[in-house]
Amino acid sequence: KAKEMGRNKIRLFDPDLRAQIDRKVRLETDLQQAIERDELMLHYQPQVDLQSGRIVGLEALLRWRHPELGEIAPAEFIPLAEEMGLIMPIGAWVIQEACKQNKAWQQAGFPLIRVAVNLSPKQLNHPGLVDFVAGCLSATALDPACLELEFTESASMDDPNTIIPLMHQLKKLGVSLSIDDFGTGYSNMKYLKNFPIDKLKLDGSFVREITTDPRSLAIADAIIAMSHHLGLKVVAEMTETDAQIMLLIARACDQAQGYYFSKPVPAEQCARLLQMGCLPLPTSGKPVLRTL
Ligand code: C2E
Ligand code: MG
Ligand code: MG
Ligand code: MG
Repeated sequence: KAKEMGRNKIRLFDPDLRAQIDRKVRLETDLQQAIERDELMLHYQPQVDLQSGRIVGLEALLRWRHPELGEIAPAEFIPLAEEMGLIMPIGAWVIQEACKQNKAWQQAGFPLIRVAVNLSPKQLNHPGLVDFVAGCLSATALDPACLELEFTESASMDDPNTIIPLMHQLKKLGVSLSIDDFGTGYSNMKYLKNFPIDKLKLDGSFVREITTDPRSLAIADAIIAMSHHLGLKVVAEMTETDAQIMLLIARACDQAQGYYFSKPVPAEQCARLLQMGCLPLPTSGKPVLRTL
């Protein structure tokens, strides 16, 4: 008995676990005020056309600069926000901020660009989403074609009876729709066929191995071919190397996003990328064509 209690005690006071719990409680408390305290910001990562090197889009990625704990990754705080019912105000802030920033770039004279915003599965169930997006577009007078909304594959497939009508309503506003991290969820082709979407984002887990694992390449090839037959564009995520980009070009992938071109950067730095208009594609060597 005493031994058991001792064991429980050890578990209760495990310092790592304690620290994890403390951090979670702290983040949960502080997240509630993060918007008011102006601690949230968006970084932007370019999406590059693989024919021309032109920047054709940006993905807005949320950052939380905690005054004491430093930068917290979205992978850590988005799940907390969802758990705590804070994803609606935070998600709304993201959409609004992305629209405002995009309008500001346009007013500064940059050519029209599309900014993509990630939607959390929880936001999709909120009845006010379509009106909110419409409101942001009209408040900023942003051309709806300049806003893209990224749905996760799993959220879209989970509840297609809700998601398909929602997608149609959003499409009616004129915004562009994409499926994020494609290939990692459990895609149902019957639903995919009926989604009124514009592009698929080929998940980074395939891209990472595309030059080393013929199986990853086979899947990437199949996704690219399927997308094109469905009239969709494909964006490869997490492209980091020359070899990956060259292979994706050889395989007719439309666009790429990743550290190869740029990390996600704050708006001011992004303006400099937009000023350049194009980012360099790999020049040396022949495209790596692999035979399976
Ligand atoms: P995601 O939408 O798939 O975004 C891509 C993630 O990959 C980003 O991580 C980006 O910084 C990272 N990345 C881009 N290029 C490379 C690369 O070449 N190599 C590597 N290793 N990583 C790369 P981040 O910003 O940490 O965001 C992680 C996830 O958090 C996002 O995945 C998205 O699901 C979620 N997220 C970010 N911002 C928001 C937001 O505003 N709302 C919602 N609901 N989710 C968000
Ligand atoms: Mg995304
Ligand atoms: Mg993604
Ligand atoms: Mg991803």
